[in-house]
Amino acid sequence: MNNNNIPDVNLNLNVRGLHQSATLYINEKSNELRKAGRQVYKLGLGQSPFPVPQPVVDELKVNAYQKDYLPVKGLPQLREAVADYYCKNQDICYSPGGVLIGPGSKELMFLLQYVYYGDLIIPTPSWVSYAPQAQIIGRHVRWIPTLRQNKWRLTAEELEAHCYDDPHRPRIVILNYPSNPVGVTYSTEELRSIASVARDHKIILLSDEIYGELNHKGKHVSIAKFYNEGTIISSGISKWCGAGGWRLGTFIFPDSLQWLLNSMAVMASETFTSTSAPIQYAAVRAFKRGEYIENYLWRSRWILNKLGNKIAKKLNENEIYCPSPDGAFYLFADFYKYKRKLRNKEIRNSVQLCDRLLQETGVAILPGKEFGMPSEELTARIAYVDFDGVKALSAAEMLNSKNQVNDEFLEYYCGNILKAIDLINDWIID
Ligand code: GLU
Repeated sequence: MNNNNIPDVNLNLNVRGLHQSATLYINEKSNELRKAGRQVYKLGLGQSPFPVPQPVVDELKVNAYQKDYLPVKGLPQLREAVADYYCKNQDICYSPGGVLIGPGSKELMFLLQYVYYGDLIIPTPSWVSYAPQAQIIGRHVRWIPTLRQNKWRLTAEELEAHCYDDPHRPRIVILNYPSNPVGVTYSTEELRSIASVARDHKIILLSDEIYGELNHKGKHVSIAKFYNEGTIISSGISKWCGAGGWRLGTFIFPDSLQWLLNSMAVMASETFTSTSAPIQYAAVRAFKRGEYIENYLWRSRWILNKLGNKIAKKLNENEIYCPSPDGAFYLFADFYKYKRKLRNKEIRNSVQLCDRLLQETGVAILPGKEFGMPSEELTARIAYVDFDGVKALSAAEMLNSKNQVNDEFLEYYCGNILKAIDLINDWIID
């Protein structure tokens, strides 16, 4: 019963028991602790540390007056710019009619699951919100556990084994790379093999490539190249363009899946109507790219690559297993070698691990359980984003090569994060 005496027993059963998304919760909690005067290292929420590129900000200013409702599927110039971007940068040439714009790719994922009747297949570990969305809608969630020795990446064999018993069951499989939470990617050969299984089983493949442009070598390849007819590519401007709070996501569909786009647009028209007009006009500039944005992206990749590798090395040296990243700004750490030691401190699962770490050191990271890992496995995601991206980026603009992003640079511009990693290391061996 709430305090208006309205009984809450009729809360939708699919929502009952769910909590605010872990990524957003840890951010709010960290901010509250900081406000209360605590030193907090914010390695919880995966938010880009870098500013939105200036030409994109300028375009938003110029378009602040845009006030009309835009077409449900998105601003035509933006749909064109997105289709052009994929054609030029990924060699995936779909028509602008295959682009759907939404207020964040998260919302589009929800609509997709709503309109397509099928199981949701998620490799673990995976991003925190895929499964709760399926639960809210009432879809079956099937997990495919992946292996630590494969850097927690899905293999074609694992997908085949999963589909084998019921080969034609309708399914959406989510593939996310560079991955949240591990920061690793797939080789072209691995993508080809997964694509071939997906084709055999007529899977709808939702390829979440929101970190694609943050492949640290700038060499992201979309699986849509190998399974064109069944792949939807999900992306947006939250990660590579530093604009998470702007809320703009993109889906791009092949002609064969236009019926899905159309159904999602029906849902969009009855829910969010269309995405914010000024943001869509500004996003046209983001997808048009050009020299300024290319430079911005290379500098961002250099910093993330050097920083991610340095942290992974520091953790591995301390026997906290953690694959070196290929992209994005995440590391996934496994504290299994410290199991006994942690048990002596009454820490038996990943939630307790992260709670105690926050309490005792001020370092906020997220438990592996939130990413679908068994709770007793002592895993956690580290988002290495708590540094001043404006300063780091403008310093990197003076550099000519990645090698100049050296230890001294990282210590000066990302010292807070390195300090947090030292705190983790000291805490665990203490
Ligand atoms: N994708 C980001 C993360 O995993 C944050 C945004 C969100 O979860 O909605 O931390």
